[in-house]
Amino acid sequence: MKHLAFLVLLPLTLAITACPSKKKSEVTSKTVYMGDPQNLIKGTSRDTDAWKEGYFEDGETIYLDTIFNFAAYDEVNNKPVSQESIEQENAATKNPDSEDVMSVEFRVKVDSQGKITLINPALQLNILKQFTEHGPIVTVPGEDRTSMALSHISFSKDRSIFTMLINSYAPENKKGMLYLRFYKRPPTIPDLKPNTKYQFTNGPGVYSKWADTISLGLCDLKHQTTINDMIRKSVADWNSALPDANEINYRGVKSTYAPFSDLNQHCIYTINDFYFEPDMRSAGYGITLNTTTTNMMTIIDSDIVLFAKEFEKNGVPMTHPKLRENLYYTVIHELGHMLGLDHQFTPGIPSVMSYEFEVMQIQTYDREAIQELYGQ
Ligand SMILES: [Zn+2]
Repeated sequence: MKHLAFLVLLPLTLAITACPSKKKSEVTSKTVYMGDPQNLIKGTSRDTDAWKEGYFEDGETIYLDTIFNFAAYDEVNNKPVSQESIEQENAATKNPDSEDVMSVEFRVKVDSQGKITLINPALQLNILKQFTEHGPIVTVPGEDRTSMALSHISFSKDRSIFTMLINSYAPENKKGMLYLRFYKRPPTIPDLKPNTKYQFTNGPGVYSKWADTISLGLCDLKHQTTINDMIRKSVADWNSALPDANEINYRGVKSTYAPFSDLNQHCIYTINDFYFEPDMRSAGYGITLNTTTTNMMTIIDSDIVLFAKEFEKNGVPMTHPKLRENLYYTVIHELGHMLGLDHQFTPGIPSVMSYEFEVMQIQTYDREAIQELYGQ
């Protein structure tokens, strides 16, 4: 049985699919404040107690497969982001049968007071090295440089997967937030089906899909009129390609909701006051975060985060008519990720999963990809 953790160590990876847009060459600012990561979870209802229910056994092994780091940058390396680098990044993650990537194993220690510690100092250090370019985020074993606090914990219904949001505070008062996803059993690679035509979230031959209809809400307070229209239109477009059993059931604005890390609600969030892409010449309008079962066959959770401030890099607010097209494109593109489609960059094949912003409704490729994924 192979282990895999293709999501570990890379902020931009398969299940966390970022969608930068075209470069903006006229912007020359070299200092960008990305905002307090707390803005990502402002107003959400959070639970930090659920893991006290005997979930962990002393001595058991758990498997970390995803880390995602949000940081409060105040200075960034202003290197340009090219389409080529995005494509290389995508290509580098499409390696589901690689044997040299492993999930990171942690041993659980539960003491007599019920205090829970997740232990793997050596590997923890390896992980940290990947993130120190943006400042110290997590405690390095043996060095008391950063404090961390659990902000939200969530368990899948079958209790086989859990996620944590952790607030971290570095010595320079830089705030950070970590998203961690763990499996109780090592993630396994499913039988791959031959498929070179369609790009799916976990690779062309990995048929990760929803088992049932998808209940989707809008976790948003500011842009709901604009967003609501676009989501309804985009959902109807995708539903025209989906079998009835897997349609998206869009329920509109939710009045209360948990953070995006929660495994039991599926939401589109709009986040204000936080840049996703620190380079002012490019924009990362949205990300989609999918979680599959241990064997990767079934998508159990998906959340879309739209970064309102990124739209404002164009000089007008998110709700401005000029940006409606960008916003609409972003919504339909991210819904494609939610359903299990990855980017489609092959020239000459129109797709909402490309970065061709002129494409505003699902194309023949998109429809066929969905039918290949769900039609069996
Ligand atoms: Zn994308």
